[in-house]
Amino acid sequence: MDYQAFFKTRLAALKDEGNYRVFIDLQRKRGQFPEAVWTHDKGPDDVSIWCSNDYLGMGQHPKVIAAMHDAIDRCGVGAGGTRNISGTTHDHVILEEELADLHGKEAALVFTSGYVSNWAALGTLASQIPDMIVFSDSLNHASMIEGIRHSRAKKVIWKHNDLEDLEAKLAAADPSKPKMIAFESVYSMDGDIAPISEICDLADKYGAMTYLDEVHAVGLYGPRGGGIAERDGVMDRLTVIEGTLGKAIGVVGGYIAATKELCDFVRSFASGFIFTTALPPAVAAAATASIRHLKESSVEREQQKAIVATVRKRLDNHGIPHTPNPSHIIPVIVGNPAKCKFLSDTLLTEFGIYIQPINYPTVPKGTERLRITPSPVHSSADVDRLIFALHSLWSQCQLARQPIAAE
Ligand SMILES: *Cc1c(COP(=O)(O)O)cnc(C)c1O
Repeated sequence: MDYQAFFKTRLAALKDEGNYRVFIDLQRKRGQFPEAVWTHDKGPDDVSIWCSNDYLGMGQHPKVIAAMHDAIDRCGVGAGGTRNISGTTHDHVILEEELADLHGKEAALVFTSGYVSNWAALGTLASQIPDMIVFSDSLNHASMIEGIRHSRAKKVIWKHNDLEDLEAKLAAADPSKPKMIAFESVYSMDGDIAPISEICDLADKYGAMTYLDEVHAVGLYGPRGGGIAERDGVMDRLTVIEGTLGKAIGVVGGYIAATKELCDFVRSFASGFIFTTALPPAVAAAATASIRHLKESSVEREQQKAIVATVRKRLDNHGIPHTPNPSHIIPVIVGNPAKCKFLSDTLLTEFGIYIQPINYPTVPKGTERLRITPSPVHSSADVDRLIFALHSLWSQCQLARQPIAAE
């Protein structure tokens, strides 16, 4: 076989569809984020980032930076081993206590990323519990899907956020079999939010465990940043809450929070936990500082809410269509991969604004979009530039506008 020819053909097909992904080479500027330097053929250029998952700018928060510096000065850089073989540092222990407290659970277990935490925890629970049936929301994240697939457990996919469909599927399953409902709180591409309490009611009724991915909500919702389940007062009803330290927390890593026994079980049986080097202690220390700050401060959450509302209103004033939802994510649907990429490229090259196009397979074909994530570190001048750029491009590309709301 001509391997190189195979790779080239497949990549060419992706490019033809407009679905080929291009990295943007960025250097964030500490203290000035969302500003960053974009290095490219004709660059470098200054750009403003509008698609970051560092939702609150915690990746440059002075307390978080200081905690990481301090840990490096105390301990050096790497953990030096897997968690079982010399890699459990004091900073990991403290971080897990902080996470358990954040979610009102007995224990937490940290993984190298949110992806790995879903893959390992779902994979382990669903494979080790005999005869488990997993009820998976149809829009669950790739890491959950891969974890469930890896478990080889029976999987039943229910219609996204559809309680009737979930109940019908639970009712149709063998009542004697163990069950787990796996879902997310904030869905990152549409920004809609699951009815957690009602899903827990169904779980109670049919004797199912619940596994909630709060990756896009941790740090952002609830009085202490515990997520949507905290906001809704239902954290105690969930069997497992999973989250990331890489998005609103601003660092990297993932975790589950649950009972002592469940965490101990995953710790003891999950290959993706056991056989990999622990996160650097400095990462754990920085994440702890970020979580502690967000438990006490709602300033960032309030500022984020305000700027999200401003951006939505300004888009309305120009008739630029955006999908309504109750979260911090603003999807501007373009509906065509090539147009979406053109808009994104032009925003970058002509306006110094970086919004990555979101194309298939991340979202269904025909729903290609720009996903805008305003944060407390965006200024009103940044918003002005964003709106001016989108307004100009909507005219230039003759894109459809919504009726313009009277001011
Ligand atoms: C990003 C994401 C993850 C993975 O988290 P990482 O820490 O980035 O690996 C898991 N679930 C959802 C819903 C995500 O969007």
